[in-house]
Amino acid sequence: MTKTVDAIIIGAGVIGTAIAFELAKMGWKTINVDRNTQIGHGSTSGSCAIIRTHYSTFDGTVFAWEAYHYWRDWKEYLGLPAGHDLAKYRETGCLVMKTKTNGYLKKHIENCRLLECPLEEWSPEKIVEKLPIYSLESYAPARAMSDPDFGMPNGSHLSGGVFWPKAGYVTDPALSAQNLADAARVHGAQFQTGAEVVEILRKDGRVKGIRLVDGEEIYAPVVINVAGPASAMINQMAGVLDDMTIKTRPLRQEVVHMPAPEGFDFENDGLIVSDSDIACYCRPEHGNNILVGSEDPDCDPHQWVENDIDYDRNFTDQWTTQAMRYGQRVPGIGIPQKTKGVVDLYDASTDWIPIYDRSQLPGFYMACGSSGNQYKNAPIAGKMMAALVEYCENGVDHDADPLQYTLPYLQRDIDVGFYSRKREINEESSFSVLG
Ligand SMILES: Cc1cc2nc3c(=O)[nH]c(=O)nc-3n(C[C@H](O)[C@H](O)[C@H](O)COP(=O)(O)OP(=O)(O)OC[C@H]3O[C@@H](n4cnc5c(N)ncnc54)[C@H](O)[C@@H]3O)c2cc1C
Repeated sequence: MTKTVDAIIIGAGVIGTAIAFELAKMGWKTINVDRNTQIGHGSTSGSCAIIRTHYSTFDGTVFAWEAYHYWRDWKEYLGLPAGHDLAKYRETGCLVMKTKTNGYLKKHIENCRLLECPLEEWSPEKIVEKLPIYSLESYAPARAMSDPDFGMPNGSHLSGGVFWPKAGYVTDPALSAQNLADAARVHGAQFQTGAEVVEILRKDGRVKGIRLVDGEEIYAPVVINVAGPASAMINQMAGVLDDMTIKTRPLRQEVVHMPAPEGFDFENDGLIVSDSDIACYCRPEHGNNILVGSEDPDCDPHQWVENDIDYDRNFTDQWTTQAMRYGQRVPGIGIPQKTKGVVDLYDASTDWIPIYDRSQLPGFYMACGSSGNQYKNAPIAGKMMAALVEYCENGVDHDADPLQYTLPYLQRDIDVGFYSRKREINEESSFSVLG
């Protein structure tokens, strides 16, 4: 039997399921297809799931501050029956070290003050009071392990940081996508797993549907590419790459999982810390562990991969480099003998800002280029994408007359053209996972 729906969503990660939830609530008959056998098991499951409320750009800050509210109100937002196993949001706050690299956070503070997003400026004394395991010696610039000066302090000390108290993390990111899928199902959404898309079908100059690897065809007037690190391949299948100034590409990442130093309960008393002095971010993890990710310093070569399936899932020297950089900040931490953590892919865009847009093929849309920093924004990205699809399907040319979208919590209008596939490269971006 051939299926016909109103919209096909390629991918059932946290963003694909959020789009399904919103479209289904608007009465659209949707189906998400995902190659994996379980929902949320693409890059979403490898995510550190940090929800921060600051960004380098004003638009990025507005979006993230709006998104925070859905994680805070997760149960109400989903509307699932009581007793449902829900992902949990742990509001630990996020400390960001002031460094030359981030302009001592002047722009970030200004952006947040304009939005009344709470923050506190912390002195070095306050940082050490909260994190007694920390040493504030400066090591910038971050260096590769092969550099003879690796691990040598530069003689200065960090001058303080900014603490964003509302930031936190989600304990089980795959479960959060499954929660969204369950909430979408309540409104009639369908999910087909173990279903790999191999062709985008067209008819009369617009999208007609998809073909799966087993030959099954599913038809819809709207197809949305939310394929995470496979987004470029899906865009290529659809033949929509030509007019895009912003491209997407899978980028390999390693996240270190290491025990906190003995005597300090990092799980309960620790924080998320973003530290561009050592080019690492970290967050508490269950079992008094710490997750340590990279802030992509210039000295670390980018590990671009050809596609999202055949790539090296083993830890490399990058793991050891990150663990040792974190050891510069926390001298009492031991570097574990056994490498543990995550190897996964970002879907990096040219300027590390996502694309939420239509395409040159009528009916074909994309929510991609999430660049290691859009887990947090999934709920609002879902709402905005649903509004964008409706706007375009009502016949408006979003390229010429971009949708102005009112954020439900903040009641602010944003120009969705900011996320255009055809934008100029945004020079305000950090050009890193920080967005
Ligand atoms: C190591 C790591 C740490 C991160 N940390 C953070 C963080 O702390 N905070 C933050 O905000 N963001 C973070 N991110 C980014 C965040 O996880 C992603 O932006 C988000 O999960 C993307 O969700 P998605 O739904 O777009 O994609 P995905 O979760 O990747 O889902 C895409 C789905 O598409 C499916 N698919 C692909 N090709 C096909 C095909 N041909 N046919 C059918 N299905 C297909 C895949 O199976 C996959 O399930 C991190 C990412 C990584 C990798």
